[in-house]
Amino acid sequence: MNSTIEHVDVLIVGAGISGIGAAYYLQKMQPAKTFAIVEARADIGGTWDLFRYPGIRSDSDLHTFSYEFKAWENEKAIASADAIMSYLRETVAENGIGNAIRFGHKVIDADWSTEDARWLVQIERLETGERFTMSCGWFFCASGYYRYDEGFTPEFPGRERFSGQVVHPQHWPEDLDYAGKKVVIIGSGATAVTLVPALAEAAGHVTMLQRSPTYIVPVPSEDRIANTLPKLIGRERAYAVTRTKNVAKQRFIYRFCQQYPRAARTLIRHLNAKQLPTGYPVDEHFRPAYNPWDQRLCAVPDADMFKAIRAGRASVVTDRVDTFTERGIRLQSGRELDADIIVTATGLNLLAFGGITLSVDGVPVDVSNKVAFKGFLLSDVPNFAYMFGYTNSSWTLKVGLVCEHFCRLLAHMDANGHTVCYPQVPGSMPTRPLLGISAGYFKRSAAQFPQQGAEGPWRTPMEYRADRKMLREGPVDDDHLRFAMPASTPAPALIA
Ligand SMILES: Cc1cc2nc3c(=O)[nH]c(=O)nc-3n(C[C@H](O)[C@H](O)[C@H](O)COP(=O)(O)OP(=O)(O)OC[C@H]3O[C@@H](n4cnc5c(N)ncnc54)[C@H](O)[C@@H]3O)c2cc1C
Repeated sequence: MNSTIEHVDVLIVGAGISGIGAAYYLQKMQPAKTFAIVEARADIGGTWDLFRYPGIRSDSDLHTFSYEFKAWENEKAIASADAIMSYLRETVAENGIGNAIRFGHKVIDADWSTEDARWLVQIERLETGERFTMSCGWFFCASGYYRYDEGFTPEFPGRERFSGQVVHPQHWPEDLDYAGKKVVIIGSGATAVTLVPALAEAAGHVTMLQRSPTYIVPVPSEDRIANTLPKLIGRERAYAVTRTKNVAKQRFIYRFCQQYPRAARTLIRHLNAKQLPTGYPVDEHFRPAYNPWDQRLCAVPDADMFKAIRAGRASVVTDRVDTFTERGIRLQSGRELDADIIVTATGLNLLAFGGITLSVDGVPVDVSNKVAFKGFLLSDVPNFAYMFGYTNSSWTLKVGLVCEHFCRLLAHMDANGHTVCYPQVPGSMPTRPLLGISAGYFKRSAAQFPQQGAEGPWRTPMEYRADRKMLREGPVDDDHLRFAMPASTPAPALIA
């Protein structure tokens, strides 16, 4: 092996909210371990740096979307991308993580060498196209779950005929002038419902064109309890209490929707009807065919989207695109929508593990045949960990749990002289897709993600309480984990 290869104990892919979190926990719980973060972009933040469309914001409350170790102190609980970026920048600065990040570096592939008990990771310097190798004891993939280079846009017939501009929210032109223009947004997910009120402030009119309705729930943008508590019980305790309260609230709402779908539907319909003008066809535009939380609910802070509809600045059309025309969109009903700008808020292209090709001793790993263990390790893949947060509550709630558990696993291995660890599936075990959520973009790409089992550590529960029990309170050792010493060959001379 080349003796100039740089080696770290843990190589983290991605400087988004997950990768920065992983770095924090490593520094705190495993200060002797060396680590680096390889980040393809020129800045931290991942999702919150990439998306630049007007109004871009979270739909989770930031008291659960922020880290457990750093209080969210902004008055807005539903926060703009700018506010989230400031919070992440502070986290990086306060914890001296910046120097560990290699910006503009993309991980291409990673090969586990059994002989050397380490990963050889091929990295591209994006500015020059030059490739080089780093090695690491553990490879920690915090690369998010979707493609950064391209959003998802279905084929729309006649697209080339349209004389206006077509824009995808993932590639928002900085100088797009929509003042006074007729804008049609295709889609009904979180991005579309964020764009509607934001564009309606300046556009001539905004139409949200949806194939089928989504559950849209008004939520307060500020959490009065969270904003009052610090004066009463101090900042740190107030944050902990608010976080616990909001975790419980998210869990209650999710469970309520799953157990009493009819009651949940009735309640959401009531909340929607209250916000809409009298006589509005609520069921046509706001009554989905599926049950609440079978797909992610869309939150609208302070009912901003409904306000735009009430003010006549925005409207919703439920229909299907027949074809784009020179002047806009002809719908399958025969109706025509005039547009100067069409925004295709049609979703993401999912991508497992940052598109990185994994192999073990040169043999490619077929990720879709692997089974997730405790939601962060993969069957038969040594010293590989990944971060995939919650899709039914705040993604970040899982970051602390996984990273703590990972650091405890490292400590356990050190204490027992192990350098290699991987989970092994017991005999024949029934499996199902890792991503259970039924949204179109999850279904489209489920095949490239690993499987999960039905129970125990092989299940990925998507539930904070169950994970807390398993990851925070449970032991790291497990009958399904295989530990090993390195192979007999001495480790090659590497730069530590
Ligand atoms: C518009 C939008 C709004 C969202 N709002 C919410 C919300 O309110 N609540 C919620 O819980 N979730 C939300 N999500 C989901 C959101 O993506 C996650 O919550 C969270 O930000 C993911 O953080 P992450 O660090 O895991 O991944 P990302 O933010 O995707 O960051 C991954 C990083 O890894 C880097 N990377 C990837 N592959 C490679 C590679 N091969 N080499 C080098 N670097 C690589 C990327 O450049 C990126 O910086 C939202 C998603 C979107 C798209």
